[in-house]
Amino acid sequence: MYDSPQTLLLNLFGYEQFRGQQAAIINHLVDGGDALVLMPTGGGKSLCFQIPALIRPGMGVVISPLIALMQDQVMALQQLGVKAQTLHSAMDWQTQQHIEQQALNGELQMLYVSPERLLSQRCLDMLKAVPISLFAIDEAHCVSQWGHDFRPEYLQLDCLQQSFPKVPRVALTATADGPTQAEMVKRLHLQQAQQFISSFDRPNIRYRVLQKQKGKQQLLHFIQSQHQDSAGIVYCGSRKKVDELAHWLSQSGVTALPYHAGMSADHRNQNQTRFLQEDGLVMVATIAFGMGIDKPNVRFVAHTDLPKSIESYYQETGRAGRDGLPADAWMIYGLQDVVWLRQRLLESEMDEAIKRSEQGKLDAMLGLCEVTSCRRQVLLAYFGENLKDACGNCDNCLEPVATFDGTEVARKALSCVYRSGQRFGVSHLVDILLGKPTDKIKQASHDKLSTFAIGQELDQKQWRSVFRQLLAQGMIASDPTVYGGIKLMPQCRPLLKGEQSIQLRLDRKVSSKAGKKQRTPVAAEDLGLWQSLRDQRMALAQEQSVPPYVIFSDATLLAMIEMKPINLAQMSHVPGVGEKKLDRYGDTFLGVLAEHERALA
Ligand code: ADP
Ligand code: ZN
Repeated sequence: MYDSPQTLLLNLFGYEQFRGQQAAIINHLVDGGDALVLMPTGGGKSLCFQIPALIRPGMGVVISPLIALMQDQVMALQQLGVKAQTLHSAMDWQTQQHIEQQALNGELQMLYVSPERLLSQRCLDMLKAVPISLFAIDEAHCVSQWGHDFRPEYLQLDCLQQSFPKVPRVALTATADGPTQAEMVKRLHLQQAQQFISSFDRPNIRYRVLQKQKGKQQLLHFIQSQHQDSAGIVYCGSRKKVDELAHWLSQSGVTALPYHAGMSADHRNQNQTRFLQEDGLVMVATIAFGMGIDKPNVRFVAHTDLPKSIESYYQETGRAGRDGLPADAWMIYGLQDVVWLRQRLLESEMDEAIKRSEQGKLDAMLGLCEVTSCRRQVLLAYFGENLKDACGNCDNCLEPVATFDGTEVARKALSCVYRSGQRFGVSHLVDILLGKPTDKIKQASHDKLSTFAIGQELDQKQWRSVFRQLLAQGMIASDPTVYGGIKLMPQCRPLLKGEQSIQLRLDRKVSSKAGKKQRTPVAAEDLGLWQSLRDQRMALAQEQSVPPYVIFSDATLLAMIEMKPINLAQMSHVPGVGEKKLDRYGDTFLGVLAEHERALA
């Protein structure tokens, strides 16, 4: 039907070039080989199995863990004129039968199935009765029992190899870590598969970590100054906070919706659908929101609480900028986060070994927050990748952090902890250092301590920052037996004894000049046209009840703005405009562009 991957890429998908390892993966599969593909979110995994599935004779079968994911991809394929369908147990019986019949008649090019549906005898029998071009196992990390996306049915997918020994299989994931990789190979019998492992860097994401001061205001300012009308996700540590923050943002003029596991399934689904289908909506959520969010134009992911590990942070921030356009990973964190997370860990009922490992993960996360060099280097190093040069696209690269010799102030802070009996919280300790005669201080006779009023060189905020950094470095810890009182840890000894010095970061003023500009992907003079194109896309999407990005991606609309095509021939060169879409939408969008030109004339 199609002679080569290249013509299919151009004519069907409207793209001129393969990215990264796409071509190698596709050729390998077209030739009948098995493959394991590790590629970051937004890397372009879908094409890797869609193109070989269409080139090889027979129907391509894609196994995917979430209905929403399947529906998204099937809608996108149908837009391109590909005969694709989904099959899952939440569909009514008649529809299921109808789709099975289509498959049996050889009328389908691609079939997306849920794992439990695939494993039913009925479905396996049906698949044996038709030629299959390949099996793609999407989100293959769901096979790992140690990950949070574990799906028991994935373990049984090893049956594919026995039942369909001649059909090539490809497993794909964006999850990076080594043990998960090994498990995928073992569980899915992919020992013979060629492995295609890409860099996990997401160069279009800008990482930023700020000190938490007035959390809500900082967030609002970030959204209003940089992401007016963008879609974004705000992660919070608790359901209560989700509800409060979503409400507060809405009242402050940001279109925001809540999402957490405490809401009814209906309410959750409704909010999720709105997030996917509308432009410029902010979802305030717990980590319950995420897998299956395939929306390509999420422009920012904000964390108002510290994630518990770098893995979580990377996965959550990875939902920004799937389309490859500039996006932000923005986080605020403060002293309370450190105290709270450490405490929760200490009090938890987990096994000691697990606790220690969780503690290690949290420490690595804190290290990422406090680092004064390139954050991307630290992130990638955590996943075993070595980024040679500083990235130039994180806060530390863009606005280098000032540090100062904090040996003296750190020693004052530590001895204040010691002299007051290792029982008090940071606020009280800071009051002692500043020499504030509060009631609590007088009661405890802390105005008689040798550390009383010895810290006038810093203000309250700066002292809190010193304590936060000492906590992050494990020099001190909060003690749950005395309600979060701060105690000394053995690591602080050399510092206290004057055998070691310490560099501390000078926290940035919150109102730093950098990053005030709107981070919309278009120039100011094109905003009008951008909006008209998006309106047109939305109108078409609503007519067909599909999400707007299924019609055209943001990247395609931006390319239209840049290239300003004036006829169908020129329009056909816009990336993302394949034959079918040129046919269906070419004239409509040419109309919008022409109208804009006329308005300018
Ligand atoms: P993943 O599944 O790896 O997260 P997708 O398959 O959804 O990524 O692809 C991300 C985006 O990149 C999609 O909008 C897709 O159309 C686009 N894309 C993929 N391959 C190419 C390519 N070769 N050229 C241009 N755009 C591409
Ligand atoms: Zn950097």
